[in-house]
Amino acid sequence: MPILTIESTCDETAAAVIGDDAAVLGQCIATQEKLHEQFRGVVPEVAARAHLERILPVIDTAIRAAGVTPDDLTAIAVADRPGLAGSLLVGVVAAKTLAMAWNKPLVAINHLHAHLYACQLATDQVVYPCIGMVVSGGHTSLYRCDSPLDLEYLGGTIDDAAGEAFDKVAAMLSLGFPGGPAVSRLAAKGDREAHSFPRSMIRDDHFNFSFSGLKTAVRYAIVGPGQQDFSKVDLAEDAKADLCASFEAAVVDVLVAKCARAVRKFGVGRLIVGGGVAANGYLRSRLESAAQRDGFSVVIAPMDLCTDNAVMGAIAIEKIKRGDFAGLDLDITPGLQRGF
Ligand code: ATP
Ligand code: MG
Ligand code: FE
Repeated sequence: MPILTIESTCDETAAAVIGDDAAVLGQCIATQEKLHEQFRGVVPEVAARAHLERILPVIDTAIRAAGVTPDDLTAIAVADRPGLAGSLLVGVVAAKTLAMAWNKPLVAINHLHAHLYACQLATDQVVYPCIGMVVSGGHTSLYRCDSPLDLEYLGGTIDDAAGEAFDKVAAMLSLGFPGGPAVSRLAAKGDREAHSFPRSMIRDDHFNFSFSGLKTAVRYAIVGPGQQDFSKVDLAEDAKADLCASFEAAVVDVLVAKCARAVRKFGVGRLIVGGGVAANGYLRSRLESAAQRDGFSVVIAPMDLCTDNAVMGAIAIEKIKRGDFAGLDLDITPGLQRGF
């Protein structure tokens, strides 16, 4: 049974060996955060080159940690969409090469579906059918999920993703990269009502999001309209904390409201939430409160499976059950049509 899963969609190079019942036999993640920190964001060319250096050692480490040999593997799975083209190519080419050299079937994984599958890995109960929300660095999307592989896109961000907004706000306040954890830490010390930032589309009867206006509102609160130069910004810790807390409250208000609306509208009674921003403590607690208030159940991805990892590639097991294999002509799909 053991399968090898490979993840290289953005700036984490990861591999895992997954056994029966989705047990993690071994895994390895090489993060590139240090490489991208100086640019305050992921630089695609830098990411691709770093994946190239790391992919084979990472795969080798995961296989050794699992105590298996390539002979034991029954399939090789790789995320082929969505993501940065250069990053995806490295994982896909590695997977195809190993599949050919070791004579193993190949499975293609949708990275966003995998982010949601991290929730199923957290519980013994079947979580489907449910509403699924991916909140990550590149996506903020809502789905109606009938199974791990049968998802209907309900809506998503029309501009920035929630995680991207966290990263941009962190950059404006010189809090480092990735910004989510730093903004969240400071937010816990601030006043969520210090600034009244916009909650775009919060009451609209659709499932799209917009975070670019919020990002601009935070910028105006820091440097004023028309100003771009953050280098002279010298805010006290308290002022930064208030900005972070008010920003985080605005993002979370919208995310929670849209999830609750979707659960209500589709009557599924269940919500799952995955992606890097799902690691946010304030979002987690507000989702739990909304679930209690409205009487639905919520499963949020475990903390270590929120940001990119290869363990959530266990969704490949579902594809194998369906006999859904990829050919050696598998190509990357960096962008998705309507959220897929
Ligand atoms: P995608 O999955 O859309 O391709 P990605 O893989 O780059 O994007 P993830 O690894 O899922 O994104 O998540 C990274 C994002 O999560 C970053 O934007 C980061 O700031 C954000 N993030 C991580 N931890 C937290 C947190 N505690 N609070 C808020 N945001 C967070
Ligand atoms: Mg990352
Ligand atoms: Fe991701």
